[in-house]
Amino acid sequence: MTAVVSDLRVPIVHLHIGGEARTSGSGGVHQHVYPATGEVQGPVPLAGPDDVDAAVRAAHAAYPQWRALRPAERARVLRRLGELMERDTAEIARLSVLDNGMSAAMSQPLVGIMANWTSYYAGWADKVEGRVTSFPANQRELAYSMPEPYGVVGIILTWNGPVVSVGMKLIPALAAGNTVVMKPSELTPYATEHLMGLVKEAGIPDGVVNLVLGGPQTGDALVRHPLVQKVSFTGGPATARKILAACAESLKPAVLELGGKSANVLFPDADLDTAVAVNTFSVLGTLAGQGCAIPSRMIVHNDIYDDVVERVLAIVGGMHCGDPFDPASVISPVVTREAQQRILAMIERAQADGAKLLTGGRAPSHLTNGFFVEPTVLGDVDPNSELGQIEVFGPVLSLMRFQTEEQAIEMANSTDYGLASYVYTKDIDRIQRMVSALQAGGVYVNGATPVTGCELAFGGIGISGYGREGGEEGLFEFLRTKAVGIGGNWA
Ligand code: NAD
Repeated sequence: MTAVVSDLRVPIVHLHIGGEARTSGSGGVHQHVYPATGEVQGPVPLAGPDDVDAAVRAAHAAYPQWRALRPAERARVLRRLGELMERDTAEIARLSVLDNGMSAAMSQPLVGIMANWTSYYAGWADKVEGRVTSFPANQRELAYSMPEPYGVVGIILTWNGPVVSVGMKLIPALAAGNTVVMKPSELTPYATEHLMGLVKEAGIPDGVVNLVLGGPQTGDALVRHPLVQKVSFTGGPATARKILAACAESLKPAVLELGGKSANVLFPDADLDTAVAVNTFSVLGTLAGQGCAIPSRMIVHNDIYDDVVERVLAIVGGMHCGDPFDPASVISPVVTREAQQRILAMIERAQADGAKLLTGGRAPSHLTNGFFVEPTVLGDVDPNSELGQIEVFGPVLSLMRFQTEEQAIEMANSTDYGLASYVYTKDIDRIQRMVSALQAGGVYVNGATPVTGCELAFGGIGISGYGREGGEEGLFEFLRTKAVGIGGNWA
């Protein structure tokens, strides 16, 4: 595999509308800042409502041709797109680092995940099938269901993992026969800019995939556009409420992939070598804690609590904050200065609420230009405190204690979120009880993780959202079923 090189050059960013690459938009310009250094990297054109309108109309115009394409041909170009993603892994991974400061060690596997999801959903493009139902009593009606694409789908991405979201949203929408207007965050324009070149190279016709960059106003214009038939959104619950309010006007359907406050319950018989390493790395080392499904609440049995604390601190002691291109860097910066200040303030308030700061809690003194937060661990966190209830989206791990299985379940289920829950135990009966009792879109046991496998549906309950990505369920989010009855005189 080609290594990701440290190279801070960025591409010129465009709005991609109907096959045309525009260097300016009517929404103004955002100056992109590299989170690792705080330096401005270049301008990002922002789409105004008229640009969004042009993009949606381009997608609408391209829809009949894309829908009419033979499914096997749709599968072929999507497979080709997946191959091009693999070919350009090192470059897409480099641009992902420049987008949001994630470590190169993380960005390369994320491109691999996108390519896997792309090849998986390419395989679905020619396998969309309906169902012939039993004949009505008079034997004179043929009744069947026919899944159909929606038309134009509006896709809104957030900044923490646009590349993975491309695989999870764009590709199944295309495989199902829809055309798309995609709006990444203006904070992450580079990797998706490169991907638009690959979309063209793969032979996907102009107008099938359009891209507009921008913030809330751009997203709102996309959601409200009357030709957009469905919205697929990744982001926070507060924005999701605004999107649903906008969708309510025309009763437009939406898929919502929102945040999480996921619990990891460690029983005394857990394989602690695996449990502690996986949990600590995924909370602190995954995009500096800016991951939606990370187990940010480690709920630990009293008998092993001290042992777990010791193991966590030993791992964190070896975690290095620094240049995301340095393979030794595990902790990358968070996305903006505002995010850094918000996270540090939350750590302060957690201590005022009684949590014990075990390590970290500050901005590292040798990296003041970038937006870094030391890997932070807080012990004896009150499950009902702000830190016990609210997503941090930063490198902060909370530890809590329990004595009985019932207490652990109650703690794990005590937030309004419900994206993922994790359990470590060797007791199969306990696993079955926990899988059934934990209120979340997914339960992952003994080291299993979400999203890496595209075959399994991923998504939330509660304020973690609804709808699914992955598997057949993720494809059918972009299809609606038409019922067909054909009468006749066949006697
Ligand atoms: P956000 O909700 O502020 O923004 C997400 C996207 O929505 C951005 O592209 C933004 O420009 C756009 N947007 C903002 N206001 C809008 C509006 N009124 N109408 C339409 N679009 C609008 O989220 P964020 O702070 O950028 O991202 C962090 C959140 O995303 C966290 O809660 C995180 O857990 C969640 N997330 C969830 C998943 C998942 O798959 N479940 C994955 C990654 C991130």
